[in-house]
Amino acid sequence: MSRLPPRPELDWKDDGTPQDVRVDDIYFSRQSGLEETRLVFLKGCGLPERWEGRDSFTIGELGFGTGLNFLGAWQLWRETRPTPNAWLHFVSFEGFPLDREDAARALSAWPEISELSNKLVERWPERALGVQRIVWPDEGVTLTLHTGEISETLPASSFAADAWFLDGFSPAKNPQMWDKSLWPMVQQRCTDGVSLSTFTVAGFVRRGLAEAGFDVAKVEGFGRKRERLEVSLNEAPHPPADVYGLRSPERRPEKVRIVGAGIAGACLARTFLDRGLQVEVVDASDGLARQASGNPLALVMPRLDAGDTVQARLLIDAYLRARQFYAGRPGVTETDVLQRPKDEREAERIAKVLADPPLGLENLEAAASGQLHKKALILEPEKLIAHLLEGAATRFGETLDLSDLDPDLPTIIAAGQGAQDLLPWLGLTGRLGQVDFASVAVDAPPSAIASGHYALALGQTRLWGATFEAWDGTCPDVSEAARTTNMAALQALDPYWRQAARTADLQSRAGVRATTPDRVPLIGAVPDATVAREIFEGVKHGQAIEADAPLVDGLFMAGGFGSRGFTWGPWAGEILAGQILREPAPATGPALNAVSPMRLILRALKRGG
Ligand code: SAM
Repeated sequence: MSRLPPRPELDWKDDGTPQDVRVDDIYFSRQSGLEETRLVFLKGCGLPERWEGRDSFTIGELGFGTGLNFLGAWQLWRETRPTPNAWLHFVSFEGFPLDREDAARALSAWPEISELSNKLVERWPERALGVQRIVWPDEGVTLTLHTGEISETLPASSFAADAWFLDGFSPAKNPQMWDKSLWPMVQQRCTDGVSLSTFTVAGFVRRGLAEAGFDVAKVEGFGRKRERLEVSLNEAPHPPADVYGLRSPERRPEKVRIVGAGIAGACLARTFLDRGLQVEVVDASDGLARQASGNPLALVMPRLDAGDTVQARLLIDAYLRARQFYAGRPGVTETDVLQRPKDEREAERIAKVLADPPLGLENLEAAASGQLHKKALILEPEKLIAHLLEGAATRFGETLDLSDLDPDLPTIIAAGQGAQDLLPWLGLTGRLGQVDFASVAVDAPPSAIASGHYALALGQTRLWGATFEAWDGTCPDVSEAARTTNMAALQALDPYWRQAARTADLQSRAGVRATTPDRVPLIGAVPDATVAREIFEGVKHGQAIEADAPLVDGLFMAGGFGSRGFTWGPWAGEILAGQILREPAPATGPALNAVSPMRLILRALKRGG
């Protein structure tokens, strides 16, 4: 099976209505699609009345298709947004994503929503399995798209919806989207007072919903369909034990405090500022990006694994989120990266990735000597981080005192290796990374080559590195030995500007990269490690303990990013906004578990420690 989601088998009817030949059904009627959205789904779910007075409202949808229902909801949100800071979260599921051009063609039928269709088409999701998050901060709207077969994506998703649109083609023609095994999973993803709606009244759909505890009512239908369903659930189900500490604080805060003014802190700050919160950023050093994020240039490119694991997918989700987040910001330039294998093992990995790519051809293709990443980014961190922090209150020369936590002021540690001093049980290992750079007289078009090390050119800057060595815990110093290593790497990478850079004045910069024992970052609530070890002691003996993780009230973290801080930062921002503000997660449940700080404790216990 391919690691890319299949395309629909599209056909266009004479009147321009899109149809999936595979299931012999249309996405919507071209005459009345938008009206149907409004009546069946918006009115059917009691909108806009149900979001009156709310800070945030979440809609779930089975079947994203062209995004027409999403746009209908967005338009209504624009007209009736409860407060200027309220957010609409739309979480949808799609197994056969349309290409951008096809979506544009289908949506062109409704000029009245063309402004919104253009916004969606411009940022249309990539063809990739996994979870993609797109945010329109000015509109107070997020889209979370789970791509893959519904029987896999729905159970892995992590959110609760206030309303659900059930829109998976005709039940008779496409029974997988209406299978009764789905309804208990939908039911577990509902808030109190949820409303659900659908165009069908098929008997097996009604029975399935009723068996899962929903109240199902037939009401007058739309167009040729005489009847449709409105569905409700009186009481949301009790959530299962929160072993990994993913639950949200009781109250929605108005302010957050972030410790660390590097890329992680800056991405977090921007995300919370965009959500309308006040943000305070404190940092022990005397300015922003003084530690590992402060190199003159940085590279964001995907790390693609040969296997299809939770980790492999979360690397792709984070990369795609980074691209969405950085697009169009100051200090961000799109570039190709030629990746040449650094050794035999990497050559094998690249060959496997190219034989079964997890990203489409617009992102990745085979090159004579490796693979070409076509939409990577070169960043100018200082410019970018300053821009991201605009609007935050920054305080430098200040350290966090853990005895000074306030449950109503969530504090997020985003201090790189500094997190280890605050929470020694994390077991973060520092790795020293040095880059060398030079300024030359000639402007270069942006370019990047990677092969373990990397060489970047942008404007007059040339930068290459980085080393990745043991760190002795002292202030990170640049070294001649690292320069020699980097120069040898530059020689091997052989960019066309190599000679010019060699003869220019060299500068070097060293920083410490915090790495975790399992190389996966730490994003989530911080557990009380001592109490957690007691409660989960039985895990040592192979017991499955179903208990809530004990959490330090008001304390969260984002770190352990290794040398990929610029890739993880934007994704971490959305994950923590989701948890702290009770919004849908931009990731699967297994991915949230895999990055949760609590997993380190469970992992150590499983290993008998
Ligand atoms: N809501 C959409 C819109 O506004 O354009 C129309 C949805 S269309 C009627 C049904 C969607 O369900 C299609 O996009 C189809 O690819 C998707 N779908 C069908 N079977 C699926 C499955 N087994 N898993 C995931 N998605 C599926």
